Parts: sequence; structure tokens; C-alpha cells
Amino acid sequence: MATERKKSARSFAPGKVYLIGAGPGDPSLITVKGRALLEKAEVVVYDYLASKKLLAYVPKDAELIYAGKMGGVKHTHTQAEINRMLVEHAMAGKTVVRLKGGDPFIFGRGGEEIEELVEAGVPFEVVPGVTSATAAATYAGVPITHRQYTSSVAFVTGHEDPTKADSNIAWDKLATGIGTLVFYMGIKNLPHITQRLMEHGRDPQTPVLVVRWASTPEQRSVVGTLADIAEVVREANIKPPALVVVGEVVSLREKINWFEKKPLFGRRILITRTREQASDLVARLEDLGADCLEWPTISLAPPDSWAELDRELDRLGSYHWLVFTSINAIRFFFARLFEKGMDARDLKGPRIATVGATTAEELRAHGVKADLLPEEFTGEGLAASLIAHGMAGKSILIPRALKAREVLPEELEAAGAAVQVVPVYRNVRPEAKTDELRRELAERQVDVITFTSSSTVTNFLHMLNAADQEELHRLLAGVRVAVIGPITARTAEKAGLSINIQPETFTIPDLVESIRAFFAAGTPSAA
Ligand code: SAH
Repeated sequence: MATERKKSARSFAPGKVYLIGAGPGDPSLITVKGRALLEKAEVVVYDYLASKKLLAYVPKDAELIYAGKMGGVKHTHTQAEINRMLVEHAMAGKTVVRLKGGDPFIFGRGGEEIEELVEAGVPFEVVPGVTSATAAATYAGVPITHRQYTSSVAFVTGHEDPTKADSNIAWDKLATGIGTLVFYMGIKNLPHITQRLMEHGRDPQTPVLVVRWASTPEQRSVVGTLADIAEVVREANIKPPALVVVGEVVSLREKINWFEKKPLFGRRILITRTREQASDLVARLEDLGADCLEWPTISLAPPDSWAELDRELDRLGSYHWLVFTSINAIRFFFARLFEKGMDARDLKGPRIATVGATTAEELRAHGVKADLLPEEFTGEGLAASLIAHGMAGKSILIPRALKAREVLPEELEAAGAAVQVVPVYRNVRPEAKTDELRRELAERQVDVITFTSSSTVTNFLHMLNAADQEELHRLLAGVRVAVIGPITARTAEKAGLSINIQPETFTIPDLVESIRAFFAAGTPSAA
């Protein structure tokens, strides 16, 4: 059916091309309209500067085409090829999103691509984006206009060879005629650009700001004057993509700089959780300005067979308690429940317990309210709370990982319960990629590594594959170790790691707070 519909669409109407500005770097700076269109794209052609994280909004079956284009590096596709691709996919009836960094009509060749579409008769729309000039200034604490400093601003390409005789840029007018000047693609030519501006009368003491990877956790910025910024940039080894902001407004940065003052700005944190579970931890750390590297040491898979769970699902009514000790257990359990044509209504028999607040929340998302939540969010705490309800003669079902700590079932059995443990998922160790991990640690100056369970520790060390303690300490030199709780800490210590950060309660928000406090304590306070 679906193919038939598409075929007829092809013969009668072309699709449409949406030229969308992805924003400057932080994926959340895309417009609401841009994001909504990504969600219905069938083909996405994206650039080097458009955040890859935005691709998460694209439907799974959409075709993703990387169009490359990085200054100085060989282009993946020529502009002519990109234009042709857009026309062809649209002519085939597809909804095509052309995603570009910043704003598509600001030094993005968006105009050329649209002209091509017009000639081919392809319908299109253009969605503006936050251009990197405003983002870079804003995220470095500089308002690009300000009543007391300037009432004009110019966006200029720094790509043009400023030594060429027939320049398209009126340097004489630009130098003193405009208050704030923002140069895109200007790093390579910076010495020429500053030279030209000074030659044409701009004060050499004019403050200048250079920002690389603006609005991302990797943002770096430096300031100087027209006279010395080229040298400052060279010494700081600032590479493209970066923007150059020239003008008196730059002096406001001292007062306004906000993004770079976030408590974890510039801190690089390695996350070892499963990809499925990392998002909350990552979002919280990023909100504090940290740069998170996801390095999952665990991935999840269904059990080899569902036979055991299926059998228990058929006699759920005979259980007194159904106990969930992890979010993953809940997800896999419910996925199977639905697969069998059952749903939350079939859980009305047993009372339901969860190990902590997040598991309770996950359960609620599946339409079920937990009857019991322990005071202390550990297996021991859960056992104690259940035992307080009286376990003698009770039957308990615990769907969980194939291999897990035995504390809970053992304590409940000791208290007189009949406990049935059924596997609903398996933890699998992903491919080790030892060399890549070592390179990442060496090159990216990781500040903290986070361990949220004992298996993340064991699997991480397996991936790192150090020959002995000496090599282990060398590979992890300067890296602080953060653990979620005492059990993970013990595993890490046994393996020879020393713990730097550990929250008092074992939750993700508390782990994040401990990391923040650790760095706040280490930074000399202003007072
Ligand atoms: N259409 C884009 C600009 C493309 S030209 C926009 O509106 O932002 C490419 C240049 O943009 C880079 O060389 C760099 O100067 C600038 N740029 C893009 N993203 C940037 C970022 N996150 N940080 C600093 N500069 C950026």
C-alpha cells in the first residue's frame, strides 16, 4: 500500500525541500519549527556545523546524507552535487530537510541552493536559525549592540583573501563606519583582517573577542585588542570554527560573561552508563556546563528466552509482591507484557515495590503506581521495607537482570518468603575498543569518570585493559573517580582506583551535586 501511495505521489507532485537553520551548536537552539520539520523528514542532508545531536529527532527510517564541508578539508560533496541531490529527492516525492549550521542565509550558500530549486520547480520553505555570530557573542558574554557603545553591526566573511586587489569588502568604510564587526571564517586570515582595519583607521586598542565552538560544551574564547588578537589566537592555538567580534561592546564581557561561569564549564566527564540510562545524568551535567563523553560500558539485550517470564505472567495473580529493582527491568518487563497482548490492567493482583524514586517514576510512566518505596534506595533498604510488611508465607516475583546481586532475594527468603527471580534482560559488554578509549583519555583531558554500578567499573577496566596497576594509574593520571554509592566504590577500590567523589545518597541528582561541589571547593572563591 505504502509504496503505491508513494508512486502516485511521484507522478503527480514533487515533495518539498525545507532549508533549515540548525542554530549555532547547542542543539536546543534550533527553532521549534525546525525541529518539527526534522521530525517528519524523509531525507536529511546535513552539514559539518549542524549539531549531530539534532539527527535524533529524525524518523528512524529517514535517509541521512552527510554533505560535509569543513574549511580546508576535502569536501564530501561538491555544491553542484548537493544541489542536484536536493532536487532529485524532492522530485521523487520526498520531504527533504536541508540542515545547515547557524542561519542558512548567512554565509551558508542557502541562496544558491534555493535558486536551484526555483529553477527546477521544486517547492521549498526556509526556516531561519540562530546565526553563530549572535550566539558566539551572547555565549561569551557580549551583547553585539548596546546603546552606549554601538548602534550598528556588520556580519563579514573573513574567508576572502584580504590581500587581493579587487576585494568585495570596502575595508575603508567598514573599519570606522560600523560599530561592531563580526567576522565569520576569519581565523586563517586574522592577521590580515586586523591589519586592514587598523590601516583604515580603526583604533588598535579596540577590544576583540574570538570564540570557538560557541554555545557547545567545547566553547573556548579569548580576548585581545586589534593590535594583539592575532598573536593571542596563535598562542592559544584557536582553530576554526571560530568567530571574531571587533568593537567596544567586547569590554562588557567582564560583567556579563555567564555561560563560561557555569560551575562545570570546561570540565570533561566520561559517562560509562548504558546509552539508554545516560541521558538524565548527561542532561544534568551539561546543564552545569560540563562536556560529557559517552562511553557506554554496558549494553542491554533481552534474555535468551522469555519462557520463564511468560510462565510467571500467566500466574501473576498468585504473587503477593512484584518487585522492580531497576528502570531497565521495568522497560523490558513491560515490553514483553505488551508483546503478549497484556497491559497494566493485568498487574492488579500483586502489590508493587520499587527500589527508588526513579524506578517509581518509570513505573508511573507505564501507568502503574508503586505501593512501596524504601527509605534507603538500595537492595538492602528495599529488603528491610518489604520485611517490615511481613514476608512469612508470601510469594514474591522479581523480574531483573540475568545476573545481579543476590542480597534482596536472599534476605526476603530468610524472612520466610518464596522468591521467584526471572531474567528480563541481560547486561552485555560492548566491544572493547581499547585503543580508542585510551586515545580519548589521553587526548581529551578527561577530568572525571563516573561509575554508576559495579559492572560499569569492571567493564570499563576490562576495556581499558591495563597490564598492571602501574599502567592503570598512568592511563588514568589526573582523572578523578566519581561513584554513585558504597558498593560501586568498593568494586572500584578493590580494582585499585581511589575514589574522589561519592554522594551520601545514591541517586543521580546527588552524584551530579557531588561533582559540582567537588569542583566548587577546588576553585579559589572570589571572596
Ligand atoms: N550559516 C552559518 C555560518 C556558516 S560559515 C551561521 O549562520 O552561523 C562557517 C563559519 O561560521 C565558521 O568558519 C565560523 O566562523 C562560524 N561558526 C559556525 N558555527 C560556529 C560556532 N559554533 N562557533 C564559532 N563559530 C562558528
